[in-house]
Amino acid sequence: MQAIKEIHDVVNDPITYARRLQEQSGKKIIGYMCTYAPEEIIHAAGAHPLRLFGSSKNILLADGHLQTYCCSLVRGVLEDALAGDLKFLDGMIFPHTCDTVQRLSDIWRLNVPYGFHLDVVLPVKLDTKSAADYMVDVLNLFRNDLEKSLQVRITDDDIRKSIVLYNEIRSGLEKVHELNKNNPGIINGKDLSALVRAAMIMDRNDYWKILQNVIAELENKGVIAKATKARRLIISGGLCSQPDIYHVIEDAGGVVVGDDLCTGSRYYQGRIKTTGDPVAAIAERYLQRPVCPAKHMDKNARATNLVKIARDSKADGVIFMLLKFCDPHAFDYPYLNEALAADSIPSLLLEVEDQPQAQSQLKTRIEAFLETLS
Ligand code: SF4
Ligand code: SF4
Repeated sequence: MQAIKEIHDVVNDPITYARRLQEQSGKKIIGYMCTYAPEEIIHAAGAHPLRLFGSSKNILLADGHLQTYCCSLVRGVLEDALAGDLKFLDGMIFPHTCDTVQRLSDIWRLNVPYGFHLDVVLPVKLDTKSAADYMVDVLNLFRNDLEKSLQVRITDDDIRKSIVLYNEIRSGLEKVHELNKNNPGIINGKDLSALVRAAMIMDRNDYWKILQNVIAELENKGVIAKATKARRLIISGGLCSQPDIYHVIEDAGGVVVGDDLCTGSRYYQGRIKTTGDPVAAIAERYLQRPVCPAKHMDKNARATNLVKIARDSKADGVIFMLLKFCDPHAFDYPYLNEALAADSIPSLLLEVEDQPQAQSQLKTRIEAFLETLS
């Protein structure tokens, strides 16, 4: 698939892609690191939201500012920033999420001498009326701050147009995942993972055209017979920075049929209303979509969602891929695991780093887990 090749080129080198986009389109590039970044408002300002995924380099400069027991994602992004690789960024925004990102925001403000810096202090607890009101106020404040930083005016109509495009992209990604769930292997896991990541990197109009082509190609494919006997798996965690894990799973006789990831369902689930106050509509989606462990809702919300994903996908098992030193996900793991066990869904815990690591150990553990499922 030519479209997928283009996607992999972008995902393998997002910085070169973003620099080129900036040169060719003149768009301002705004970095962010989390699915709680209000991308629709950045896009409505005529700027380009670019999700940063960390570095594949050795961490050296960042160690002067962050303890080595901070997650490798945050250390990697800071490494790239301090090394000057992100100098092209016109701004960086930090939604209020885990403690590590909040401290990164402070360190960034004091040590990264380029681009503007904005915090978006969203509420932590998401299931109260006051949280909903506060969320709308914070997003409106962000809209004003962004207008000042970029010297533009962002109208309600601009935001509505962006919402329509984001809704189309999110529905498209959901469609691809549905096609794969119903016909596992119709797209391999590494391609699917790259497809979601590219949605956070590429010019969104260009991406939407590519995504439509991918959907059309997948709909024309027949049934993938060889995958029907494969063990059906869900991946759960923050972001999956180990695309090769999908090959390991597929080689071992498994197939990923769903996920509970920030580079997966947490990114594309939930549509935004296209009528009424557009900022309130963006806030509403944040309050209704599946919650991440850096936010709080009903104490069973994450477990209920994960068990539902596993059941709906007829999964044989769940693989937790936790980034080392990611406290929010580590704290949630025991209770998620318990909820799966109560539903007789087996699971495996893998601790991973953002930087490339030896696949052999992961392979052995995944193979052993799949054997227990057969
Ligand atoms: S786990 Fe939560 S805080 Fe971390 S990137 Fe995902 S949405 Fe953001
Ligand atoms: S949620 Fe976890 S992985 Fe994401 S930035 Fe925070 S500590 Fe790192």
